[in-house]
Amino acid sequence: MYYIGAHVSASGGLENAPKNAHAIGATAFALFTKNQRQWLAKPLIEEEIARFKAACAEYGYTAAQILPHDSYLINLGNPDDAALEKSRQSFIEEMHRCEQLGLDRLNFHPGSHLRVISEEESLDRIAESINLALERTQGVTAVIENTAGQGSNLGYRFEHLRYLIDRVEDKSRVGVCLDTCHSFAAGYDLRSAELCAETFAEFDRVVGFEYLRGMHLNDALKPRGSKVDRHTPLGDGLIGWECFRYIASDPRFENIPLILETPDESRWAEEIATLKGFSI
Ligand SMILES: [Zn+2]
Ligand SMILES: [Zn+2]
Repeated sequence: MYYIGAHVSASGGLENAPKNAHAIGATAFALFTKNQRQWLAKPLIEEEIARFKAACAEYGYTAAQILPHDSYLINLGNPDDAALEKSRQSFIEEMHRCEQLGLDRLNFHPGSHLRVISEEESLDRIAESINLALERTQGVTAVIENTAGQGSNLGYRFEHLRYLIDRVEDKSRVGVCLDTCHSFAAGYDLRSAELCAETFAEFDRVVGFEYLRGMHLNDALKPRGSKVDRHTPLGDGLIGWECFRYIASDPRFENIPLILETPDESRWAEEIATLKGFSI
């Protein structure tokens, strides 16, 4: 089964996320479980948790179809010790929120070295951050997203993902999310079925499909290798539909959330319908 959806709004209450996803014909969704631009959030209360779980049940979403995303403020590879500690606390809190909501994975961007320490030193900090979060929570997988490599962001090579996985103690609770726009901006080609086959073979060789816990489906505005992260609606960018047809009809991408983060929300229902059509 292909689970296809978008990163929907949870404004007005977390239970609105499954409702909004259902309204666009989605069989998966992503959401922020708190305001993504603030460090602090009020702890979840029982009623909120119950309302969210009831809405997921009503619209037929299980944990395998939901990919929560953490706050953009968190940098688990921060070179500054105090800032790193703040990020780690916030990340653990987000993992805990997922646990409370019955969600089994949390998607995050690995982190940035801010040009203060080396890539390797920053990756070591990220790996340690993941280990700390996994020690303090239960049942939630830390899902590392690959990045475009903009600024000093790490995670733009499959080797970075491998490096982190190698250093995570509980391998059963670490996974990855591949973003097609980020992959392309980082230099991986996806412009035809053949190129997709090559790129995903490299992913399988370096990381392994057994770690894939979600995908972000975005077309790319900027050229391959530009390291600039600008999403476009599917088919409007430089990647093109063939890549999305490839993913939405290849069984290696079944049973994980395939999530649109494309900029024009009014086109999501149509994008989802087109993607669903590829596997029929
Ligand atoms: Zn993404
Ligand atoms: Zn992006």
